[in-house]
Amino acid sequence: MLSSQTTSQKTNAEIDYVEVARELAAQFATRAAHYDQQAAIPHENARALMESGYTAMTVPVAHGGGGVSLLTLCRAQEVLAAGCASTAWMVNMHVHGLAILNFVASRDLEWAYNEVVHHRGFLAGGFSEPGVGGNWWYPTTQAQRVPGGYVLNGRKTFFTGFPVANMLFLSAAVKDDRGVSQALGFVVPKKERGIRVEREWDGCGMRATGSHSLVLEEFFVADKYVVGNPGDVPVLFMRNVHWAWCSFASVFVGIAAGALQYTTEVVKKRQLKVLRKSLAHLPGIQFRIADMKVKLAAARANLYAAARKEFRENDDPLAHYIEISAMKTRTCQLSYEVVLQALRVMGGSGYAQACPIQRMYRDVTAGLLMPPSADMALEWVGKHALGIPVLGDPRWGE
Ligand SMILES: Cc1cc2nc3c(=O)[nH]c(=O)nc-3n(C[C@H](O)[C@H](O)[C@H](O)COP(=O)(O)OP(=O)(O)OC[C@H]3O[C@@H](n4cnc5c(N)ncnc54)[C@H](O)[C@@H]3O)c2cc1C
Repeated sequence: MLSSQTTSQKTNAEIDYVEVARELAAQFATRAAHYDQQAAIPHENARALMESGYTAMTVPVAHGGGGVSLLTLCRAQEVLAAGCASTAWMVNMHVHGLAILNFVASRDLEWAYNEVVHHRGFLAGGFSEPGVGGNWWYPTTQAQRVPGGYVLNGRKTFFTGFPVANMLFLSAAVKDDRGVSQALGFVVPKKERGIRVEREWDGCGMRATGSHSLVLEEFFVADKYVVGNPGDVPVLFMRNVHWAWCSFASVFVGIAAGALQYTTEVVKKRQLKVLRKSLAHLPGIQFRIADMKVKLAAARANLYAAARKEFRENDDPLAHYIEISAMKTRTCQLSYEVVLQALRVMGGSGYAQACPIQRMYRDVTAGLLMPPSADMALEWVGKHALGIPVLGDPRWGE
């Protein structure tokens, strides 16, 4: 239960989402180890997020939501992730997915907003595929035109939050009149027919995210669930990429912040007989804590500078995409380094199942693997700086 101060009597637009995150994170932290060990789906956490109004934070105010800024979203997600990174990652796909959709298709999404605000709607997003990896713009899932809609066939991997979702945001390739494939987006109510879980998520980290692998078999999607136009996806995504990459990074910054806090508390208390003082008196520990603090501050500065930036009409979408990709790559690397230091500060006890640092370490490594691939981000940063075309490369299509 949340304190009545936090949400009751308030409209979603009046809620302090960072405060809600703080209260929920404290609850979620008490069961994070259980869900991690079992690789189980934290349905009770998802319910708490829905009941608190948290899942409505990025629904536009005009549709009954919170209409929060990206900065608020990142701050709230950072706080939530320090309690339970898996839960924060799961709801991240929902909150940032809705935010991006607002810019693409808000008029067509009244049904989805209504679901979220009044019926505990929860969105999961599936763009990764075995033959695509993190190169989301080129789906291999095929969408075939049929009367009244499309029939989708293909595979989706890492579909975070699928077990709790009742709405799916996914992509597929549709062929135009010339036979050229274009990516098309869909937001569709989840239904039994046409989607099968091929493999349940059992990962090294982010274990409680239900990031299942799915098969789409003759999955019919009616026209009203199409978002945008064929071929719009790459540019629309570039223009709104800050909602994706900043929100991703905020989760990993949150894990780093949680690790620093936990480790600081432990070294202040833990005494070794040989020292006759707490571990906090060791210069090595002091330097490592300092290093964690400095890296966390740099990660936050990087993230929050990006989250404050608006994309303006005349901005170059590619330059924007590259800048935000560089931010995500650096922020996630710094967050990883903070948690690695936490492990070293803790010593072997940090490696034991009983210690949350080992979970945080496994969870934070996922930030290094999330799109954009660090290799791709750096390649694009370098090419862009040197005036070498990025999108003309045959690997990316024209
Ligand atoms: C816990 C977790 C949850 C996730 N949740 C979701 C989700 O909800 N929805 C979703 O769509 N996806 C999700 N993903 C997937 C994620 O977005 C990436 O797509 C995925 O991690 C990529 O993995 P892959 O094995 O396909 O790697 P690939 O992307 O195939 O990468 C393999 C290697 O190739 C390199 N590489 C790939 N492409 C390029 C390139 N263009 N240029 C240079 N190098 C390249 C990479 O750097 C890497 O070294 C999740 C992943 C994880 C780990």
